[in-house]
Amino acid sequence: MAKLYFYYSAMNAGKTMKLLQSSFNYRERGMNTLLYTSAYDTRFGKSLVASRIGISEQANTFEPKTNIYEDVNDIIAERTNNNISNCAPGNIHCVFIDEAQFLTKEQVKQLCQIVDELNIPVLTYGLRSDFLGEPFEGSKYLLIYADELIEVKTICFCGKKAIMNAKFDANNKIVRTGDQIDIGGNEKYISLCRKHFNEGRLK
Ligand SMILES: [Zn+2]
Repeated sequence: MAKLYFYYSAMNAGKTMKLLQSSFNYRERGMNTLLYTSAYDTRFGKSLVASRIGISEQANTFEPKTNIYEDVNDIIAERTNNNISNCAPGNIHCVFIDEAQFLTKEQVKQLCQIVDELNIPVLTYGLRSDFLGEPFEGSKYLLIYADELIEVKTICFCGKKAIMNAKFDANNKIVRTGDQIDIGGNEKYISLCRKHFNEGRLK
C-alpha cells in the first residue's frame, strides 16, 4: 500500500538533497517520479528543485490555489492517452513535494487522495516551524495526516540537535517579528537548538 511520508527538519538539513536522491533512486530502477515545489521559492529559478550542493531536477510548482490531486490526475490522463502507462497510473511511481510547509490544509488532503485513491506514494519534505516558532500550515497538517514522520537531523552551533529556525538581520540580531513567508537561505536564516533560539544566540 502506498503511504504519505513527511520528512521534516530545521533549515539546511539537506532535505532537498534527500528528495533528489530518492527521486534518482526511483529513476535508476526505471520508474518515473513527479516533482512539485512551491511557486514562492524562485531562488533557483521557477520549476526547479535544487539543492545547495548543485544538483537539481525539473519540477511542477504549486500555489495555494493549485489542486494537486487534480493536477496529478490530469497528468495521468494525458500519459494514459499517449499510451505511456504501464503498471502504475500514468506510469507515475512516486510524487515528491519540496517546500511542503507551504502546502495548505486542503492540499495536504489532496495528497492523501493521491495516496489512498491512486495508490501512489507521496514523499513530502519541509520545515516544521517558522522563524517565529509557529507551525507552518502544511507542516501542521502533514504531522497529523502523514502515515510516516521522518526527522531529518541537523545541528546547532553548540552541537545539539537544531529544531528551530532563526531569522537574523544585517547586524546579526535575531528577528522576532514579520511575515511568516520570507524566502531566503543562509544569508538570513540559521537553524538552532531550542535553548539558543529562545536566548537569541546565533553563535
Ligand atoms: Zn544550541
